[in-house]
Amino acid sequence: MGNTVAQRARRAGPGRDGPGRISGAPLTTTQETEHLHDRPDWTCRVCGAPWPCSTARATLMHEYRAFPSLLRIYLSAQMYEALDDLTIEGKAPPMNLYERFLSWVQTHPPSP
Ligand SMILES: [Zn+2]
Repeated sequence: MGNTVAQRARRAGPGRDGPGRISGAPLTTTQETEHLHDRPDWTCRVCGAPWPCSTARATLMHEYRAFPSLLRIYLSAQMYEALDDLTIEGKAPPMNLYERFLSWVQTHPPSP
């Protein structure tokens, strides 16, 4: 027969996923991997977790590392925005908004 393993491997080798699969949808940049909230649901638009998700928290902690009090002010504002959005249809306000938005913020006391 002469059908060696090498010949078979060559025949089934790379090339099956070659040209022809280009769909014109380029891979997105970092814009869409930012863990931002999606209104009015206030879920993360990347991972779908209630915002701020763990990634968003880590990012915020990093961005505001020198200004934890500003982070609290920012998140307080976000929390009230979320409260507005989440109760706009007469729904009961979520009980855990404070936990979700503010309780995890570590406010380091300023160094003397
Ligand atoms: Zn996320």
